Amino acid sequence: MTTQTAKTIDGKTTALSVREDVAKRVTRLKEHGVSPGLTVVLVGEDPASQVYVRNKDKAATKAGFVVDTKKLAATTSQGDLLAVVKSLNADPAVHGILVQLPLPKGLDEGEVVRAISPAKDVDGLHPDNVAALVMGEEGLIPCTPAGCIELCDRYGIELEGKQAVVVGRSMLVGKPIAQLLLARNATVTIAHSRTQDLKAVCLGADVIVAAVGVAKLVQGDWVKPGAVVLDVGINRGDDGKLVGDVDFAAASDNASHITPVPGGVGPMTIAMLLSNTATAAARIAGVG
Ligand code: NAD
Repeated sequence: MTTQTAKTIDGKTTALSVREDVAKRVTRLKEHGVSPGLTVVLVGEDPASQVYVRNKDKAATKAGFVVDTKKLAATTSQGDLLAVVKSLNADPAVHGILVQLPLPKGLDEGEVVRAISPAKDVDGLHPDNVAALVMGEEGLIPCTPAGCIELCDRYGIELEGKQAVVVGRSMLVGKPIAQLLLARNATVTIAHSRTQDLKAVCLGADVIVAAVGVAKLVQGDWVKPGAVVLDVGINRGDDGKLVGDVDFAAASDNASHITPVPGGVGPMTIAMLLSNTATAAARIAGVG
């Protein structure tokens, strides 16, 4: 038991601040004659995806982007979806393309992601962008992992030389966040569903990133005193409320910094999407 009470990392306020910075970058791009455009492709009627897409549209419009949401029927064929992506790749008014995942059953997500021009792949999921991240080259970085690093930066959390444990090894979150931590010179362990004694692994960490999708998996006594805890998980509790992968109250007794759910990593995802779109537009237009 410690008496430490963690500093709560306020993702909502930080995301607003990132979004204001992006809006300034958009204004500068417009001064150079570039009107940055984001197109979101939504296939089918998944309710959660519809909410995400609406929020992205609203936030991007507010930041000054030209936003277009293309809604396609759930019955859209792979060929028709690929044709839409191809036409967006060729459209000079579009600088960012986001195909909302998951796609309805029967559509090949991998092929669709590979069809997006890497320069416009603001989700950072194209293999060229994955390779760029691993090789330390210029690319576009997946939004949620980028948001985790941005939170650390804005809270003055030093990552160099730290022991970091990432729980979860998905292409969307776990693997890219591990690469980003490595790029910041942290010593990184990736834990997953087959990891033995996850508690002991977490207890060795100065920084824990939980990206699993299991409510309160990371318990308070898994957190070393003074550790930083970034909770990416979004789960629906029995009471219908959102809950993370970390037992927030118990972990707060040990951590130095911790992100809440909701209001931690979540709001950063859209903010970093906007940031990626501004970056893509600047690179495509050759504006510094
Ligand atoms: P995923 O299902 O693709 O991957 C989950 C990972 O967790 C897997 O690598 C698996 O090995 C690991 N895992 C599963 N059970 C485990 C266990 N008991 N112990 C240790 N590891 C275990 O999920 P994902 O897309 O990476 O998302 C993870 C969580 O993050 C989900 O709750 C998701 O909703 C959330 N998420 C949040 C944001 C955001 O904006 N905040 C964005 C993406 C995902």
